[in-house]
Amino acid sequence: ANKPGQSDLNQKIRVCVRKRPLSRKEIDKAEKDIAPTVGIRSIHINEPKVKVDLTKYVEQHSFTFDEVFDVDADNHELYQRTALPLVKYVFDGGKATCFAYGQTGSGKTYTMLDQEHGLYVLAARDIFALLKHPQYEHLSAWIGFYEIYQGQLYDLLNERKKLFAREDGKQNVVISGLKEFPIDNVDNLMQVFEYGSQARSTGKYPLHKSMHPPIPSDVNSFVFGSIGSTGANADSSRSHAILQVLLKPKKNRKQITGKLSFIDLAGSERGADRGDADTKTRMEGAEINKSLLALKECIRALDQDKRHTPFRQSKLTQVLKDSFVGKSRTCMIATISPNQSNSEHTLNTLRYADRVK
Ligand code: ADP
Ligand code: MG
Repeated sequence: ANKPGQSDLNQKIRVCVRKRPLSRKEIDKAEKDIAPTVGIRSIHINEPKVKVDLTKYVEQHSFTFDEVFDVDADNHELYQRTALPLVKYVFDGGKATCFAYGQTGSGKTYTMLDQEHGLYVLAARDIFALLKHPQYEHLSAWIGFYEIYQGQLYDLLNERKKLFAREDGKQNVVISGLKEFPIDNVDNLMQVFEYGSQARSTGKYPLHKSMHPPIPSDVNSFVFGSIGSTGANADSSRSHAILQVLLKPKKNRKQITGKLSFIDLAGSERGADRGDADTKTRMEGAEINKSLLALKECIRALDQDKRHTPFRQSKLTQVLKDSFVGKSRTCMIATISPNQSNSEHTLNTLRYADRVK
């Protein structure tokens, strides 16, 4: 078996766990870290026999993951061991997906889509650098950003327009009408991203008149502070956000030579049976539950090289289909909260991640 920290970075599917530090607020409330109980320090990588000592609790839980990141790991460290191998892989013509799964507040967005040092930015830096190499000069990078809410796709870079997915017969999933922007530097990326993430969290359109080139033709459609015709989803925990970076030949924008997706999944607690009183929340929960279960089933099927993969079971897995079949890789980062009062959610997250592979 691999020693801790030496798990193979180039596996088809990797499942990692990240625990965030206690927040100021949690410390102020004298919240305790779960370390001694469901303790992350006790979850040994690739050593399934290790038991967790739960002297205060009757249950014992022991899980094995490809990699475990404790509270002191920063995004740069995570990046090296999760997304960086995927960047290299897409330059090699592959399709790769990096997920953050976990309870709301556990650090999904911080890990994936933090403005300054989310994995997507760190990956983009390397992508831009690689595009300068003579070997890759013929390629350019394009970004698209959309969300899935209640089984429906919305373009975060285009007034939350509804989008529809179809297949093109070459095993590619085409999302008709999805706005894609060419990006070649971090400033440029951040502008586009910021626009989209505000659309996600507020459902509103930031007034944004200064989208500088190379995004000329679309600037005008970005200017209005309207809420999309589709109704806002003001709570990011209820939707899956998908940021995709496509590598395309400069000479043929229709061709995709590599695809890297960063996915900030809906809060996993949304899928749990919480006995929600109102119908809307209950429906949202059911939809999220369905998609997260389908996701797990699909990744499992890939891992076991099953012939049938249940992509059709949810919109999420339908749009990800082309990232799963063929030359593809997946990295799931399960994020967990450190505090005792969330330990039930944490346990559910670890169970989910454990069953993915
Ligand atoms: P989620 O997207 O899962 O709901 P967030 O990413 O918004 O959770 O994180 C919740 C809060 O915890 C945020 O204030 C975020 O900045 C903070 N946080 C999350 N992970 C970390 C981390 N690894 N280190 C420091 N702060 C973190
Ligand atoms: Mg979030």
